[in-house]
Amino acid sequence: MALGRREFLKSAGTCVGGASAIALGFAPPQAFAQETRQYKLLRAKETRNNCTYCSVGCGLLMYSLGDGAKNAKPSIFHIEGDPDHPVSRGSLCPKGAGLVDFIHSEGRLHYPSYRAPGSKEWTRISWEEATDRIARLLKDDRDKNFIAKNEKGETVNRWLTTGMLASSAASNETGLLDFKFARSMGMLALDCQARLCHGPTVSALGPTLGRGAMTNNWVDIKNANVVLIMGGNPAEAHPVGFKWVMEAKIRNGAKVMVVDPRFNRSAAVADFYAPIRAGSDGAFLLGVINYLLTHDQIQHEYVKSYTNASFVVREDFSFHEGLFSGYDAEKRSYDKSSWAYERDAQGYAVTDPTLQNPRCVINLLREHAARYTPDVVTQITGTPEKDFLHVCETLAATSAPDLTSTILFALGWTHHTNGTQIIRTAAMIQLLLGNVGMPGGGLNALRGHSNIQGYTDLGLLSLRLPGYMNLPKDSQQTLDTYLQAVTPHADEPGQVNYWHNTPKFFVSLMKTLWGDHATPTNNWGYDWLPKWDRSYDMLAYFEMMHQGKVNGYIAQGFNPLAAMPDKNRMRDALSKLRFLITMDPLDTETANFWQNEGTFNDVKPEDIQTEVFRLPASCFAEENGSIVNSARWLQWHYEGARPPGDAWNDGRIIGTIFTKLRALYAKEGGVSPEPVLNMQWNYQDPEDPTPEEVAKEANGYALADITDDKGRVVVRRGELLPDFSVMKDDGTTASYCWIFAGSWTEAGNQMARRDNTDTGLGTTPGWAWAWPANRRILYNRASLDVQGRPWDPKRQIIAWDGQRWGGGDVPDYPVTSPPNSGVGPFIMHSEGVGLLFAGGDKLVDGPFPEHYEPTETPVLSSALGKTTLRNPAARFYADEKPRMGDPAQYPYVATTYSITELFRHWTKHSRLNAIMQPEQFVEIGDKLAGKLGIAAGDMVRVSSHRGYIEAKAVVTKRLKRLSVMGKDLDQVGVPCHWGFKGATQKGYLANTLTPAIGDANSQTPEFKAFLVNVEKV
Ligand code: SF4
Repeated sequence: MALGRREFLKSAGTCVGGASAIALGFAPPQAFAQETRQYKLLRAKETRNNCTYCSVGCGLLMYSLGDGAKNAKPSIFHIEGDPDHPVSRGSLCPKGAGLVDFIHSEGRLHYPSYRAPGSKEWTRISWEEATDRIARLLKDDRDKNFIAKNEKGETVNRWLTTGMLASSAASNETGLLDFKFARSMGMLALDCQARLCHGPTVSALGPTLGRGAMTNNWVDIKNANVVLIMGGNPAEAHPVGFKWVMEAKIRNGAKVMVVDPRFNRSAAVADFYAPIRAGSDGAFLLGVINYLLTHDQIQHEYVKSYTNASFVVREDFSFHEGLFSGYDAEKRSYDKSSWAYERDAQGYAVTDPTLQNPRCVINLLREHAARYTPDVVTQITGTPEKDFLHVCETLAATSAPDLTSTILFALGWTHHTNGTQIIRTAAMIQLLLGNVGMPGGGLNALRGHSNIQGYTDLGLLSLRLPGYMNLPKDSQQTLDTYLQAVTPHADEPGQVNYWHNTPKFFVSLMKTLWGDHATPTNNWGYDWLPKWDRSYDMLAYFEMMHQGKVNGYIAQGFNPLAAMPDKNRMRDALSKLRFLITMDPLDTETANFWQNEGTFNDVKPEDIQTEVFRLPASCFAEENGSIVNSARWLQWHYEGARPPGDAWNDGRIIGTIFTKLRALYAKEGGVSPEPVLNMQWNYQDPEDPTPEEVAKEANGYALADITDDKGRVVVRRGELLPDFSVMKDDGTTASYCWIFAGSWTEAGNQMARRDNTDTGLGTTPGWAWAWPANRRILYNRASLDVQGRPWDPKRQIIAWDGQRWGGGDVPDYPVTSPPNSGVGPFIMHSEGVGLLFAGGDKLVDGPFPEHYEPTETPVLSSALGKTTLRNPAARFYADEKPRMGDPAQYPYVATTYSITELFRHWTKHSRLNAIMQPEQFVEIGDKLAGKLGIAAGDMVRVSSHRGYIEAKAVVTKRLKRLSVMGKDLDQVGVPCHWGFKGATQKGYLANTLTPAIGDANSQTPEFKAFLVNVEKV
């Protein structure tokens, strides 16, 4: 059925969600084959799953027909929302409503195929040919380039010439296999989508609060009195999660405020909107801190007891001209030794509970933030002063103990060279207001992809291990040196300092990785882990690739040509590979980077000597497994159909290649075969591990009887671990990811639980399972005062019963530490409190946040009167400098974003979504359009110093002209959804425009603020 967008909208109504479209019977051709509407689910099998797009993790009911008895392959013909799901309650947004079209997309791959060097076409090959050849290529490259020892003679066991990008929507179980596969071979260039999205969230919230995750949960948003949406647009990017904002507004009388460069769909239903220049959020938020401190509108008791406001900072710490003490201009990095507390004779941090000492954190912060007056904020951000003050006043009101604000953010804050510090500033605001740990409060980091939280948890980042442990570096040559460095010592007496358990988590991981080969005599196989000398994050690795230093690359469920910045340069980098392997359900731009697509991808295939393997993978609907939503819920889903054609599950692809590689090492020997052969891979079918056995491995087992302090056996040998508290550092427990311990216990698969009973304030602890320890609101002990009285009796979620802590949520606190025990609620921190000053090695660019301009900025001098304009610690490769533009040539600020109907570059393969948004567009403010003579619907060229795109102009009042530093400034909106593959019209990859420079702490690229020019074509 051919249906144009206009006809479609006419029949479905302009505010359609795809749910309406499916209800009308427009979406799947299969649906037409059914009987009348009311009987369409008759004889169908119902399978539960979760949406594969964003991290709301909406519940799905998938209906399939066809079973073995009829010798017919099951096929999913209808998907609808799961009404029992506590977050989505039966809803799906237009993306989720189009899922059945994703499953049956014409872009699905059915057979492995191969592109020979210099060829212009794909040829079909068998799995046997493909996996044999890939195993051979991997082994040959590893044997030739493996580095057993570095130039200092240190054991490093790393392999740098082949790398892997792991997925963001595959299951946790696939992620565990990815890690074992890549690390056993010594790969350091192992990264995942988190690098390109929420890396800065982890590097900001970890140092500030103790854990780098969304503090509360979707449903809890309804408890807020104020909702600040800034650096995100949940009405479009997380539509079903956004309904809890509306719940807060309608039922709780919450004030919803949006601060964004565009008057977006979140703003359209908010109570208040303020425009802002893209890239200036840090200045805005530091202005809020200045306001709160100047007007003394902070939650005093909370700040005094639950933050490090009273800690005294060393005399030699300073800040001058935009630089903190210890800066080395040549190295573009800091010596952080002065970023520290004064110490007493016992080595504990000195505090001044009277807050009189001028070196107290709160006094230094007051001085630091004082520069961000409303006038300065307005000059930098372009936000009208009265709008800025309105946001300040509204937030400040929630310093009252019985009022809370929550802050929702996403990529609008992460995609900056200063992203970590922007998010950290927001977390500090919430600490000052006493809103962290409170129901209806916190920092709700809205994760993007459906399992990017899980892939971050699983340690699929170049320098990480599972459960937020660090991979050892070169200088950590012994296990003792490593554990000494990564296990924090107490800063204050009597605190939980939970990371002091690191040796238990690490040894349990090693027992999972190396099994019986990990023994006390070989330090649990410590030498076999690759050691790093520098980061091999995606930006760094593509730079190496561009220099011709990389031979092979694996992209699993990842489309880096569309996802990485500076697309043309990335394509040139891929062209220098000897081999590329893609594993994906869909035919991606990356797999086809060598194809000439005219102006969309102008290459000569015959000049590109990369051999490419395109391996067809299953999608979410065709597997069992778990994914982690933004609120840290591990939700188990079930297979509703088999993959199409000869596509395989990811686990089978990885398992088969790895088994063949091991066989080659066993037969031929080779360089450093031990880690490859010793990696524990004892699955029933090594070529096709089941999700169930892998999920149990992630949870972990007792390898001997585990006893408590009194010698009583608490876990028997061979049993699944009930939680992480029983872990040992003596090799008697094995667990891949300590924070997942408790997810699959002797009581069964906790991730598959479906009890949606509300135990108070929307908390549903019986639904799925949340890390850590099934807690739904992190730091919830901070919702009560030191004496254990709730700041707000209406929001009490945990309570002390005289013996233990309990209540509607799992206490994030030692259950037997009574009120007044002096134990702080931020149990991951050695201080026991939230950190307004984050010293030591926590951050690379300062213990206090500071506003720095984006790499490309129209602002040439600082309103703060300092000489350092841009982030002095951001990494800058020499090759990138000539690719940066200046405002004389590129006078407008561009920002990328997502729209409701499409999810990144995936949904363009789904027919329903392609109908709704068939053609690429850019948004231009009406004043700029008038100046350039552009009318709505005209084709325009948007160019940066790296390339151009051409698209239809949407002329809008949603992008206001701002006054920045006394000059007019126009902004351009660039949605990033189209490309040269899929069911939509062909379009340009938006990342053609964006610069390849990243956040100083996490190397997440600056997609949200860069310079462009606009011309009518
Ligand atoms: S894209 Fe997000 S909000 Fe939409 S249905 Fe999927 S999980 Fe729910």
